[in-house]
Parts: sequence; structure tokens; C-alpha cells
Amino acid sequence: ELPAIAFIGLGNMGGPMAHNLAAAGYRVIGFDLVPEALEKARAAGVEIASSGAEAVRSAASASQSLVITMLPAGRHVVGALKGSDGSDGRDPVEGLLAAAAPNTLFMDCSTIAVEDSVAVRELTTAAGHRVLDAPVSGGTVGAEAGTLAMMVGGAAEDVAEAMPVLEVVGKRIVHCGPAGNGLAAKVCNNMILGASMIAVSEAFVLGEKLGLSNEALFDVASNATGQCWALTTNCPVPGPVPTSPANRDFKPGFAGALMAKDLGLAKSAIEATGIEGRMGLLAEEIYARFAEGEGGTKDFSGIIELIREQSTP
Ligand code: NAD
Repeated sequence: ELPAIAFIGLGNMGGPMAHNLAAAGYRVIGFDLVPEALEKARAAGVEIASSGAEAVRSAASASQSLVITMLPAGRHVVGALKGSDGSDGRDPVEGLLAAAAPNTLFMDCSTIAVEDSVAVRELTTAAGHRVLDAPVSGGTVGAEAGTLAMMVGGAAEDVAEAMPVLEVVGKRIVHCGPAGNGLAAKVCNNMILGASMIAVSEAFVLGEKLGLSNEALFDVASNATGQCWALTTNCPVPGPVPTSPANRDFKPGFAGALMAKDLGLAKSAIEATGIEGRMGLLAEEIYARFAEGEGGTKDFSGIIELIREQSTP
């Protein structure tokens, strides 16, 4: 019998993930704070609960259950797990941890700070449950197609238990080590991505100034040592890669605001560990500026426009 899944957070990513799980035959009981997200999920075959805790309790009535959270940031995840007693003046909210059957497996797929994931791990284990971090990459397109790359941290037997579920929502699933390591991998990967997109964009703007055609630079670099995803898949100039966002006025794709968020997490991790991370910190600064303006809603490869703008004409 398939485990029942409580799915908390049915937004741009969680919505299609929950949909794919329901389509694969899982009983999925979902909850979100936004009524439209609930309606969409219901139409996609997800049972709707009246609260997160209710979704968890309903899933716990099956012989096996799993709780997935897919929320914006660390404070949302911690808040949903703990709940609140109303002393903050708002309506009390029952926490997910208290509603779960003993030893329930919790899997957080949100992209949160490494230090928040430590808090999630401590809270969850202190409540007598098990925990995995499984942040994803691949955007809403990957979420809809069920082809997300998943970076998983946790005990091997818990990862094995979640594997059939991971295989429905994802394609490349890597067990990165103990809990927290999934997020560590995600943060490191996106730091490479942010810094390499800036480097590729600067190279195209420099090439243009030096009289080099974009096509010529692409033909050389894509077959030489400058080769990377930012160049060959998400090329920031139109032409060489017809499917890249540069060909459609930088419609995302992977929005600048999300890149700025992920680099903010990289910055916290650089500062917490004290590594020499000047490239990562600079990428964070550049994307933070980009995301303040129109860049927030554009694909992150639109950074090339900011670089052009700030170059001497
Ligand atoms: P989103 O804002 O579309 O969805 C988050 C949902 O969580 C919202 O619908 C919100 O109402 C709901 N929510 C917030 N607090 C809640 C609570 N206490 N209980 C129930 N629901 C609650 O965000 P998203 O794009 O789906 O992203 C989710 C996570 O995945 C983020 O951490 C993001 O960084 C990460 N991520 C996003 C992408 C992407 O391309 N969108 C790609 C990779 C990773």
C-alpha cells in the first residue's frame, strides 16, 4: 500500500508536485493558506484539509504516511512545524509536529538557510519524528514534468523510504549525506550558477566591445574550457541557444528574485563558515541589485542587461 502524503504548501512548485503524486496513485492531502492554490490542487486530485495539522492527521490514519513541506522560506517551515499558541495576537495555529503520529517521516523540499534547516532538524527529532531535507532544482517546468533534480539529506533508511515518492516528483536524485546536506548541495550549486552566469554575461559584453560576434564567441567557448550551463543552456544572448530566455525578452525561467534569494543563503553560509568566498559574495551583491528592479521578475540571465547598462558606452 502506498503511503498517504500530507502536502503543505501548494504554490508554484508544491502545486504541480502534489498533482503528480496524486496522478501516480498516492492519496495526497494538501493544505495552503491561499484559497486559489487549494482550488487548483483540488481540481488536480488532491484532497483538501482545513489546516496543515488536519492534513497531517488525515494522512496519519493510513498505515504509512509522509509529510512534505514546500514553503517560501525557513521561517514559514519552522512556523508551520511548531504552530503558535496565539500569544502573538493572531489566531492560534496547531503545529504539524504535534499532529503527526510518532516517528513520522517529514520531508522539507523548500529552499531554506542552512541554519534554519538545523532548527527544522532539531525541532522534528525532538518531537520524536524523522526528517529529510530535499530541496529541488528545475523550476516550475521541472515541477510540472516531474523531472526535478533533488538533493537529499538524511539517514539512508529514511531516504530509501522516501525514494518512490522522490522518483515521482524528480529525476536526478542524489543522496548528499546526513540531514542538512541536501540544502548545502543546493546552496553550493546555485552559487556556481550565479557566479558563472555573471562571468558568461561579462564575457559576451566584452566580446561585443572587442568586435567579436556573439555567435563566434559561443562557438568557441561552448566547445572549449569556458563551457558551462549558463552558456550552453541558458545563454544570455539571443541566437546561439534558441530555447534560452534571452530569445523571449528574459521571460523566466529562473527568476532573478529567486537567484538573489539563493545567493543570500550562500552568503549566510559563507559568513557562518568563514570560507574565502569573494566570488559568491560579489554574485550575491550583483543579483541583489538586479532583483531590486525589473530583474526580480525576469530570468536571471537578464543580468547581462545590467552589465551592458553599467558599462561605459
Ligand atoms: P510559492 O510562493 O509559489 O508557494 C509557497 C506556498 O506556500 C504559497 O502558496 C503559500 O501560500 C504557502 N504557505 C506559506 N505558509 C504556509 C503555511 N504556514 N501553511 C500552508 N501553506 C503556506 O513558492 P514556490 O515557487 O512554490 O517555492 C517554494 C520553495 O521552493 C521556495 O523555498 C523556493 O525557493 C523553492 N524553489 C522554487 C523554484 C521555482 O522556480 N519557483 C525552484 C526551486 C526551488
